[in-house]
Amino acid sequence: MSVILQSFRRVKNIIFADYKIEYSMINITFPDGSVREYNNGVTSHEIARSISSGLAADIYAATVNGELWDLSRPVNTDSTIRFHKWDDAEAKHAFWHSSAHLMAEALEALWPGTKFGIGPAIENGFYYDVDPGEGKVITDADLPLIEDKMRELAAKNSPIIRTEVTKQEAMDLFTAKGDEYKTELISELEDGTITIYRQGNFTDLCRGPHLPDTSSIKAIKVLSLAGAYWRGDEKRKMMTRIYGITFPKQKMLDEYMVMLEEARKRDHRRIGRELELFAFSPRVGMGLPLWLPRGADMKQRLIDFMTGVLKERGYTMVSTPHIGNVDLYKTSGHFEKYGADSFRPITTPQEGEVFMLKPMNCPHHCEIFNATPHSYRDLPVRMAEFGTVYRYEQSGELHGLTRVRSFTQDDAHHFCRPDQLKEEFKSIIDLVQYIFKIAGFSEFTAQISLRDPENREKYIGSDDNWEKAEQAIIEAAGEKNLVTTVAVGEAAFYGPKLDFMVRDAIGRKWQLGTIQVDYNLPERFGLEYTGSDNQKHQPVMIHRAIFGSMERFVAVLIENTAGRFPIWLTPDQAVILPISEKFNDYAKTVSNLLNNSDIRTLIDDRNEKIGKKIRDNELKRIPYLLVIGEKEVAAGTVSVRKQGEGDRGVMKTEEFISLVKKETEKEIGN
Ligand SMILES: [Zn+2]
Ligand SMILES: [Zn+2]
Repeated sequence: MSVILQSFRRVKNIIFADYKIEYSMINITFPDGSVREYNNGVTSHEIARSISSGLAADIYAATVNGELWDLSRPVNTDSTIRFHKWDDAEAKHAFWHSSAHLMAEALEALWPGTKFGIGPAIENGFYYDVDPGEGKVITDADLPLIEDKMRELAAKNSPIIRTEVTKQEAMDLFTAKGDEYKTELISELEDGTITIYRQGNFTDLCRGPHLPDTSSIKAIKVLSLAGAYWRGDEKRKMMTRIYGITFPKQKMLDEYMVMLEEARKRDHRRIGRELELFAFSPRVGMGLPLWLPRGADMKQRLIDFMTGVLKERGYTMVSTPHIGNVDLYKTSGHFEKYGADSFRPITTPQEGEVFMLKPMNCPHHCEIFNATPHSYRDLPVRMAEFGTVYRYEQSGELHGLTRVRSFTQDDAHHFCRPDQLKEEFKSIIDLVQYIFKIAGFSEFTAQISLRDPENREKYIGSDDNWEKAEQAIIEAAGEKNLVTTVAVGEAAFYGPKLDFMVRDAIGRKWQLGTIQVDYNLPERFGLEYTGSDNQKHQPVMIHRAIFGSMERFVAVLIENTAGRFPIWLTPDQAVILPISEKFNDYAKTVSNLLNNSDIRTLIDDRNEKIGKKIRDNELKRIPYLLVIGEKEVAAGTVSVRKQGEGDRGVMKTEEFISLVKKETEKEIGN
């Protein structure tokens, strides 16, 4: 008997085993705590249907006993269940992952013999890395073809069937198929945990979960192609990565495509180049941003603003070097955890000295805490630094200012007593809310990440401390009226955390701020303070960043504003446009007046028509254009145009100055 047949026979047996009718009943507990009884073997989809057909139509996956499951997977024990509608990341994941399989099915139908690498769901859509085989190259012209085939296959409403197989069976199946990429993946898997998924004629090695069938995949777009080395290794085969996205409704796809076009216009890499904010030079090195004068000016303005705010809020500024002895990172545990994926250690002419580029500021700050004695009365200590750190990222992962190898964090550490934790959290949440408001992010959500209570041994620190810290975060978030989601099991091993997600002008989400409790570093660095009992105690450490990094924050700011920055922050606030050379002297007089009043002003005295000057300067996103000619010179006025709004009329220079001052005051005044 052929291996394939054998495999399928075994598969068939398993399927029958799965559907074996059992007459016992099981209890299903819903998120609101209610419990209902169902037949053993009921699927999540059936459970949803028993509540309402509307619910069943709106869900794409379910969390059963804390694990993400296919809706069509039979439930055989008393279980807790949570359904995932489209807005949940879990739903999109199942939907897009199933769509990746659908695309693979289409590719196999179009070009038999295509071999498949990995095909994950990503933040927006999915991709599949494929090897179309000798002599075949997939090009942009093929994308509509793939799309059509996917539509045709989706319309067949094929069920997507999950089957557990042994490692040998999986190996036999994909060896017979001749897919060496899959067999390589299988060889690294542990026996007993392997599943395959099948729809139509297509079978994939996969952990799932998936949609019950292809019928809900209604709107399909195959977006683009890229090259990607197998397993990210440049010594291995260059595969074709095909990106796509799908939705349950055409309208959602249409809206997404509009958003994508808008995102292209807002790409911070393009705007950064156009506005001369930053650059990258291969000579300096990949992923190492160079701030040009305008960008550096803006970055410094952000730093100055934040520093002022921090000082008002009881922070002290510190400063630390860009490198640290390797032992520092051995003490902190970073070397053990990240050392292999970091820049290589730096050695010195004198043997025995080894340094690392600083990947984070925390260990340095612990040693600053250790440099002076502390009493319970001095706490909390709030230590802040705009610290530049270096992290190795694979070259393929680098992206503009959002994924770089060198960046400056707006980093701070709070060292406090356990009883101060909640107040410290509240003070940081307050700061985050204030900064987001100033930066123009009115919509944001926060995720509270707690430990997995089933796996307590994964975490460092006592149960008592964890419970107190988690409670403090939940209460602080509640008292500050944050819109939160709770992610159980998402805490760092060293403590629970709170992460902030902002929504930008076109609906995209960006992670910015983070607040993290840490029981690990105080232990490792032996941090202590003298308590009221005269005994030594260990402080709790909180890591927090609000911008995240200056680089990332500026990138998000550019994408959110499309380069039309708030007036207080924008590199140039006004540009004077003399109608002809005759008025250049008056232009200089006005410019001096403005610059003396701290209004950042340029003159465009090029010998160009005024219409062209206006257009060019609007492209530079300078908020105010001041046109001057005969009349303005005679009356000592400027004719004001506001970016995006047009004519604002003629006014005295002093009036314009107070207009800008008022606008700035409105943006950053208290
Ligand atoms: Zn899969
Ligand atoms: Zn830190």
